[in-house]
Amino acid sequence: MTYSIIDHEFDVVVVGAGGAGLRASLGMSTAGLKTACITKVFPTRSHTVAAQGGISAALNNTGDGDDWRYHFYDTVKGSDWLGDQDAIEYMCKNAVDAVVELEHMGVPFSRDEQGNIYQRQFGGHTIDHGKSMAKRACAAADRTGHAILHTLYQQCLHHNTEFFIEYFTLDLLMDDQGICRGVIAWCLDDGTIHRFRAHMVVLATGGHGRTFFTCTGAHTCTGDGNAMILRAGLPLADMEFIQFHPTGIYGAGCLISEAVRGEGGYLTNSLGERFMLKYAPNAKDLASRDVVSRAIAIEIKEGRGCGPNKDIALLHMEHLDPKIITERLPGMHETARVFAGIDANKEPIPVQPTVHYNMGGIPTNYHGEVTCDSKETIVKGLMAIGEAACVSVHGANRLGTNSLLDLVVFGRAAALRAKEIVLTDTPHEKLADSITNTILDRFDKTRNAAGDLLTGHIRTNMQQIMQTHCGVFRSQDMLDTGKIKLEECIKTLENLQVNDHSLIWNTDLVEALELQNLMVQAVVTIHSATYRTESRGGHAREDFPERDDASWLAHTLSWCDANLNVKLDKRPVHMYTLTNEVEVIAPQKRVY
Ligand SMILES: Cc1cc2nc3c(=O)[nH]c(=O)nc-3n(C[C@H](O)[C@H](O)[C@H](O)COP(=O)(O)OP(=O)(O)OC[C@H]3O[C@@H](n4cnc5c(N)ncnc54)[C@H](O)[C@@H]3O)c2cc1C
Repeated sequence: MTYSIIDHEFDVVVVGAGGAGLRASLGMSTAGLKTACITKVFPTRSHTVAAQGGISAALNNTGDGDDWRYHFYDTVKGSDWLGDQDAIEYMCKNAVDAVVELEHMGVPFSRDEQGNIYQRQFGGHTIDHGKSMAKRACAAADRTGHAILHTLYQQCLHHNTEFFIEYFTLDLLMDDQGICRGVIAWCLDDGTIHRFRAHMVVLATGGHGRTFFTCTGAHTCTGDGNAMILRAGLPLADMEFIQFHPTGIYGAGCLISEAVRGEGGYLTNSLGERFMLKYAPNAKDLASRDVVSRAIAIEIKEGRGCGPNKDIALLHMEHLDPKIITERLPGMHETARVFAGIDANKEPIPVQPTVHYNMGGIPTNYHGEVTCDSKETIVKGLMAIGEAACVSVHGANRLGTNSLLDLVVFGRAAALRAKEIVLTDTPHEKLADSITNTILDRFDKTRNAAGDLLTGHIRTNMQQIMQTHCGVFRSQDMLDTGKIKLEECIKTLENLQVNDHSLIWNTDLVEALELQNLMVQAVVTIHSATYRTESRGGHAREDFPERDDASWLAHTLSWCDANLNVKLDKRPVHMYTLTNEVEVIAPQKRVY
């Protein structure tokens, strides 16, 4: 079928209206760039709305002596030295201003008794390189993402960002010189196809948690932007680094925020022991997430799990003052009631490590510009920010509350860069029709897929393979078997069945397109996990239990062609900073 196309011209097109996309759109619009923001869900339904615990910045409101340089140290250590130190410096140094800016925009932060922004403890946040715990997480109760997202959306409307809401972006318009010239999107509401021409495309499409069976992310977290990158022949970075959050509600997978432990909550095993005292004597329950998740996995493996199947840990907050729960953790109390059927004021919450965050994604420099090889060659016309991107500030493991910060700091950085390099009101280059046609051919083929396997069937199969073979602990055997199973699963895509062929609100087709996007990311994730023969941060290899800085102080780059063949390479970690205000932290053993 041939599709008629509605054309649009903008200076900048931002794909995604989560915290990253909205902060970038706001910056672009206020800089005088004609900006469109395209989103498959209503902006305030983006996954950022679910962020609970807080956003980090060394405001030092509690007078604990916090400083952005401690934040820098903690983030480098948290990343297990895989984070790029120039980007980490940029983020931590800009954190205080970023949070104050949010406050001035109207984010309703919780307040301390003096009226300052309320700050709580979070895992891995310390003063003076681990000497004591810092209170660095700035919080709006346990609904911080909700508060930030709504404020940013209001600000974007105020500054005339043009929104294209419930438009599903299909692919990037890449010309024959490898320059990005815009995107093609499908309007879910009326079924029309739109071609957006832009001097700069910004991918802010979020994470791909849904490659796994249990995850805290929304069903829409399918990493569509990452898949567009792979289809454009560009690489993704560090895809093996998946963060398992220690406290997903057993079965449901919904998140119980680290804020619970930040307010004094703790974990126990079937013997009633506070096992984190053994694994992290200093930070205890507030060690970094990879450490706590592995501790739970070991307790379960060694037979000290709770529940009938001995596969859970218990998270206690029943000893906390009910006033603290009502004021600081109301959403957690409600989530435990709805999804675990318990009153957290009276009994512990059953939890299990659950996929939560993707450290890997689209490689960029700290301006948000996409890079495409080990020499970090910049792809013209293309930026990526937020969870879709790999800047890389989180390296091998993200510290809690550093993602919301990453969204606003690099959303702003991308806008600053675009202001410098985008020439407004310049004509758009002519594009060969074949570029649009290739995108629409894939769309049409999927829409008319007439096999006998439903999307949900193939997706569940893929998710279970990833959960079983690429989980908290990994080994060569486990990964190799996973790869074989995944290859079989990929073949079943040829047998995909899409029942609804219409163009209007066709969720059957949306899910089929999302499945194709998830599958390529599952492939590069499992291949990257096999490639990295060491343990670092969220990537724990039973057969290579030690970190190997001699071979692996490097980011993984992964390409995947149309036949799902994978190519892998490395690029060195940035062991330098941008200024001399802070010193490079040389690799050390990581203990909490
Ligand atoms: C339950 C939960 C709690 C969390 N709590 C915290 C916390 O307290 N602190 C913290 O720092 N981090 C937290 N995180 C992590 C953090 O919230 C996320 O990493 C972050 O919000 C991601 O933001 P984003 O802007 O990159 O993407 P998202 O908010 O996921 O938004 C993605 C956007 O892209 C759009 N999009 C995607 N694909 C397409 C397409 N094909 N076409 C058009 N549009 C598309 C979507 O419509 C959406 O607008 C939490 C995460 C979860 C899941």
